[in-house]
Amino acid sequence: MITQETLGKTLISHGVSRRGFIKFCSTLTSMLALHPSMAIQVAKSLEKIQRPSVIWLHFQECTGCSESLTRSHAPTIESLIFDYISLDYHETLLAAAGDAAEKALHDAMHAHKGKYLLVVEGSIPLANPGFSTVGGKSNLDVLQHVAKDAAAIIAVGSCASFGGLPNADPNPTGAVSVSDIIKDKPIINISGCPPIPVVITGVLAHYLTFNVLPELDELGRPKTFYADTIHDRCYRRPFYDKGLFAESFDDEGAKKGWCLYRLGCKGPTTHNACATVKWNDQTSWPVEAGHGCLGCSEPRFWDGGGFYKALSIPGSDVKKMAGYAVAAGLAAGAVGGMANRSKKVDAVKKHETISVEDWEE
Ligand code: SF4
Ligand code: SF4
Repeated sequence: MITQETLGKTLISHGVSRRGFIKFCSTLTSMLALHPSMAIQVAKSLEKIQRPSVIWLHFQECTGCSESLTRSHAPTIESLIFDYISLDYHETLLAAAGDAAEKALHDAMHAHKGKYLLVVEGSIPLANPGFSTVGGKSNLDVLQHVAKDAAAIIAVGSCASFGGLPNADPNPTGAVSVSDIIKDKPIINISGCPPIPVVITGVLAHYLTFNVLPELDELGRPKTFYADTIHDRCYRRPFYDKGLFAESFDDEGAKKGWCLYRLGCKGPTTHNACATVKWNDQTSWPVEAGHGCLGCSEPRFWDGGGFYKALSIPGSDVKKMAGYAVAAGLAAGAVGGMANRSKKVDAVKKHETISVEDWEE
């Protein structure tokens, strides 16, 4: 059923206490990296607004992004759906099927014309419209039809943001991203394979609070979550700066938690919030679990030259620089760190994918 209730009224009718609401606003404020004093302002604006209608479409994808969303803890998926937004159409969470589902989509588009948020999961095949259809309609037709009256579009996951796995070489379906097709609507890319759940809910919450999309980077991703690289915030970074690298997944370096750069970690060229927001209620994240970053939130990460190939090999430079440092009476770690930092800046600029073997040659 399509409702026009304000968020304040919805929360009261769902039994959410004033205290619970303020707590939610404080969590939101810190998640969006706002000053804590903004919490009251956030609460005031949230109380007055209408719950935004959200329409969620699925194209060429694995539903991993929706799976990720269901594991959000701040806000939880239940509170997000039942209290803060009106998720009017979502093919995998929808109770209705067939004509009733089609009607839900039509009703939401009609009732919130020009105001609903369109969330897209998956890439769009252009090589043949028959490669992916919903209700007999091609992904391209559905996207163009629903995007027409949307206020803004959120491309969730690397497939919708950049083409993702379907777009990997040789791209048999001619998969493209949402922004390759839609040119006249604001689009925000929440990349990742899958994206971090609280980043998805954080962006929805930002829109809910301020009624505008957050500031974006040059690839259309929200800067709050994608401004830094994984490497910028990685807790193994001091080992990188000292030139201490694990050479295999079970050597002494790996056991001591040394840097995973030489084992293929793409942290230096990957912008995402895994190192700070973490996963599963801030339990852990891939590098903490002992595996290098795959670079999943960057364009064409599947074609990046191998998940276990190092981007470059800073180790030899670090040893050389450390030798000079000792001779000059300086701290070896600091000098090695400088060498690696400049190498990293270089690597990020070029989105470098040189392997250890290439470098040694
Ligand atoms: S290369 Fe990877 S493991 Fe090493 S410090 Fe950077 S992000 Fe962390
Ligand atoms: S650590 Fe890297 S590959 Fe893993 S989820 Fe984060 S950005 Fe993606």
